[in-house]
Amino acid sequence: MTMLDETHDPALRSWVESANAADSDFPIQNLPFGVFRRRGGGGPFRGGVAIGDAIVDLDAAVRAGVFDGEAMTAAVACTGATLNAFMALGPAAWSALRLALSRALRAAPPAQTALRACLVPQSDAEYALPATIGDYTDFYTSIHHATAIGRLFRPDNPLLPNYRWVPIGYHGRASSIGVSGQSFARPIGQTMPPGATVPVVGPSRRVDYEMELGVFIGPGNAAGDRIALDDAESHAFGIVLLNDWSARDLQGWEYQPLGPFLAKNFATTISPWIVTMAALAPFRTAWTRAQDEPQPVPYLESAANRAQGGIDIRVEVALETAAMRARHETPARLSLSSYRHAYWTAAQMIAHHTVNGCNLQPGDLLGTGTQSGPTPEEAGSLVELTGGGKQAITLPDGETRTFLEDGDAVVMRGWCEKPGAVRIGFGEVRGTVLPAR
Ligand code: CA
Repeated sequence: MTMLDETHDPALRSWVESANAADSDFPIQNLPFGVFRRRGGGGPFRGGVAIGDAIVDLDAAVRAGVFDGEAMTAAVACTGATLNAFMALGPAAWSALRLALSRALRAAPPAQTALRACLVPQSDAEYALPATIGDYTDFYTSIHHATAIGRLFRPDNPLLPNYRWVPIGYHGRASSIGVSGQSFARPIGQTMPPGATVPVVGPSRRVDYEMELGVFIGPGNAAGDRIALDDAESHAFGIVLLNDWSARDLQGWEYQPLGPFLAKNFATTISPWIVTMAALAPFRTAWTRAQDEPQPVPYLESAANRAQGGIDIRVEVALETAAMRARHETPARLSLSSYRHAYWTAAQMIAHHTVNGCNLQPGDLLGTGTQSGPTPEEAGSLVELTGGGKQAITLPDGETRTFLEDGDAVVMRGWCEKPGAVRIGFGEVRGTVLPAR
């Protein structure tokens, strides 16, 4: 796991003044990677790093001669329309570029002059998916979510016995993953209403969000090899916010025996900025398993994973209805929890995914599953917050919701904070439900 180094020093300040604000998501200690261009067709999409309210254009920085050595090699890998080549380089290259950027963004004049010319305001930017995602797997790592969902579908048997032994997951759909700003038509599909004997085909009436994180894979492994638990994080490039849109009525009818299919594959939305595992180093937490719970099998067990396998990432979901948007109101918070509650860590997801020899590739995406916490207020989906759609939520403006309505936008935000470290953020991921077509 990443050690703390000079790039984490809480005393560091950048000459990009907006990065020094206490509430900035993107201080010099963060330095997340994404793919952007100037809005309105301003050149090709290319790699960039967020700093304050600006973006370092890495293609421009390479041409300006800002980097040398291993950092230069790494930066060149960020100049294309995806970050897959950079992800493939691995932790030494990632660290070299992070260190070079950190030093350049706090350099005194005149050294800062060349990089200052490479900044693009975030207000002028639009984003693309940061990588070509070859494969997307969605895990189910919150035992609180798994139990709550299981109770709705199987009241007498909410948590299946494999849950405490196997990091449960399914292979998702990569083609419909979009970057923040994605909108999608309410999905059509089969549902079986209670008491009916023939399914109904029509628009889903139970469209939901799922508050997740996504782990982007770095170098990966050859087919037939496996990634050991203590090596797993050298294959984790970084983390994004992820909204796994879910049609609960389709899901309830189709999910047995092979799991989610059309209830999940119509859209998944991620945030544009990948917060690196290096940036998350100050926010690691112990991973524990109570003594009365099954202890992990050997390939999922290590002292390092116990010591700091967890990460305290706060994640919030807010809802902006069409009426709220028309009145320019702030989205209303629905959920707030933390990734520190996860039953399985990111490293355990990677070790488990490859224990059978399955090959992970640069740019693959692993969803963590809905990150519901132990209390009802920490539930990360509407199906949990409304007791399966039985108790409507009342929003501050008096509107009510059980599930999402047409025109609803869901906005997720994430951040890390603790005493002695500079707060870092993930920005936001926003997606909007449109009427069925
Ligand atoms: Ca999910």
